[in-house]
Amino acid sequence: MDFSLSDTERDIRDWVRTFVQRELMPLESEVLRRERAGERGLPKEQLAQLRDKARQAGFWGVQTPEEYGGMDLSAVMAALIEIELGRTFVPFSFGGYADNILYHANEEQRQRYLLPTIEGERKSCFAITEPGAGSDAKNIRTTARKEGSEWVIDGEKTYITGGIDADFALVFAVTDRDRGADGGVTCFLVDRDMGWKSEPIEIMGPPDRMPASLVFDGVRVPEGNVLGEVGRGFALAMQWIGRGRYLLPARALGGCERLVEMAMEHSQSRETFGAPIADRQSIQWMLADSAVEIESLRWLVLQAAWQIDSGMDSRHAQSIAKLYGGTRANEIVDRVMQIHGGMGYTRELPVERWYRDLRLLRIFEGTDEIQRRTISRNLLKGHASVSGVLG
Ligand SMILES: Cc1cc2nc3c(=O)[nH]c(=O)nc-3n(C[C@H](O)[C@H](O)[C@H](O)COP(=O)(O)OP(=O)(O)OC[C@H]3O[C@@H](n4cnc5c(N)ncnc54)[C@H](O)[C@@H]3O)c2cc1C
Repeated sequence: MDFSLSDTERDIRDWVRTFVQRELMPLESEVLRRERAGERGLPKEQLAQLRDKARQAGFWGVQTPEEYGGMDLSAVMAALIEIELGRTFVPFSFGGYADNILYHANEEQRQRYLLPTIEGERKSCFAITEPGAGSDAKNIRTTARKEGSEWVIDGEKTYITGGIDADFALVFAVTDRDRGADGGVTCFLVDRDMGWKSEPIEIMGPPDRMPASLVFDGVRVPEGNVLGEVGRGFALAMQWIGRGRYLLPARALGGCERLVEMAMEHSQSRETFGAPIADRQSIQWMLADSAVEIESLRWLVLQAAWQIDSGMDSRHAQSIAKLYGGTRANEIVDRVMQIHGGMGYTRELPVERWYRDLRLLRIFEGTDEIQRRTISRNLLKGHASVSGVLG
């Protein structure tokens, strides 16, 4: 069993590491200043410049197919990149990306939605959650009824990431109430100028995370804007959610590495009762437990990614990585705050920012409880084994 990186993997990882150190980390205090003034971490133009800089170095479209100009990197490589990006809280991701389900677009939709999204000219958002349907996504109530050559959409979506400034939404609506999620939900590409409205929702996390509620009041959508087939939308929604669950804990893992490094540094310089706090067993144990959890998470994430690259059904492994990543990252940031004492709780340091941001990992894209439900169901139904993939 070989756990080492190939030369190419190491080169790419190191390139991202250098990019993060040289281009992103120097922006951290500016990001904190802006966020504390209620602004987004970076102005749009600066974000675009950073993406262009990466693109000039050939870094663009990490997992986008080569035919669309992307790098088409493996899932393992994508995870390694996310870990590096996670080492800073500067809200950055490489350009050249479109929602995985947009690749189901027909030729006309490809020109109007897929290609401009990859180019960064248009922004999408994914809208399934409703006030009455989150974990229980099959319970959505937004409807779309056919009138001539158009669909008329009525309903409300909530907590939609990117909903504030998206140019179009991937909207999931019930087209056949009797069939529900099993053949009665359809996905629509709905431009903002077709008439939906959005309202930002205040959250405890940073401004870049701020989601929106979307209101559809008789919004008319041409029939050519159905993504995929009528009635096949729920499967598309599941495909979107399953696109890269392992990448969420991968980014959190990078943050945890950085946080524990900060805690190590602080514990060696902060003295109480005549000795550095790093000399105390209670502090050492917090560092040791965090290191064990970080190491465990690394292999859960990479193993899930490896399963994808091997063509296996990785959903079980991804749920395990997401659940473990969410709970452990929150435990680790809590310990790191504890090690920093009062300073950890202030806005002098970014620890409290990480603390607020990491909390989301236990809620979105499947809560802890929903991951546990999935994992136990897989085991009880015999779809997965406690012996893992080697068992
Ligand atoms: C910042 C943010 C961004 C988001 N972005 C998007 C987005 O872009 N697009 C989108 O469509 N949605 C998005 N969401 C919605 C998110 O996916 C849902 O909030 C999440 O799935 C939980 O749904 P809910 O909030 O309705 O909670 P509920 O489903 O009401 O759950 C409430 C509690 O009950 C628990 N629970 C529910 N069912 C069970 C069960 N069967 N067994 C045990 N416990 C259970 C849950 O785990 C949770 O603890 C976002 C949410 C947030 C906060």
